[in-house]
Amino acid sequence: MKEVCKNYKPEISFCPKCNRKLVYRYPISDKVVQFSNGKKIRIKNLAYGCPSCRWVFVSQTANKLSLKGYTYSTKIACMVDDYKKKHWSRETICDFFAGKNIEISDRNIDMLYHKMQKLLALDGAVTIPSAYQKMIDRFSTIRLAVDLISLEERRYVLVYDFFTADLLAIRCFWTLDDPDLKVFLESFLKKDLPISMIVSIRKDAQLVPLMRQLCPPTTKFLSFNKF
Ligand SMILES: [Zn+2]
Repeated sequence: MKEVCKNYKPEISFCPKCNRKLVYRYPISDKVVQFSNGKKIRIKNLAYGCPSCRWVFVSQTANKLSLKGYTYSTKIACMVDDYKKKHWSRETICDFFAGKNIEISDRNIDMLYHKMQKLLALDGAVTIPSAYQKMIDRFSTIRLAVDLISLEERRYVLVYDFFTADLLAIRCFWTLDDPDLKVFLESFLKKDLPISMIVSIRKDAQLVPLMRQLCPPTTKFLSFNKF
């Protein structure tokens, strides 16, 4: 079977620091990712750099598709967390994925589950302000990528540093009407912060409008590229 490959460029074309046009540098990540629909796709994240600063920028879309160092999609990692929370056994989870044409061993299920527990334990109250400080020192501005992964029952909200592509926090909610979601977003989105850009999901009647309300009116919202 011919391998399907998708290349992703940064969502921005100009340097956030000096506004020069970015040029292609190198693939920052190149791996075959297993997706929840059973497909395996080679995802290349192409870094573009500024010709005058030393900074390079990556695709937020390619970055959020899988966790760093893992070849399963972020959605599969969230599904493992969800099924474990429902007390499904490893065997049940394995069988479920096998039925969807997703190859995953019970060892990998444990590995993904432990990784998710580590990530869910990230304290956004620490990681986000510390990332903000670095962004302001380097670029005099704050930029984020915020993804939403919706499973049947749970909603996972993931916050990434736009510049380093690091995952800063994941929180899990039952619905987007959960008042805790607003409390969580309010903890790092404030009108008096220099937030210039948020890359987020394309079509959504709830999350993006909620973030807009909390950000300065000048914050630009971009969508992740089409997958
Ligand atoms: Zn520059």
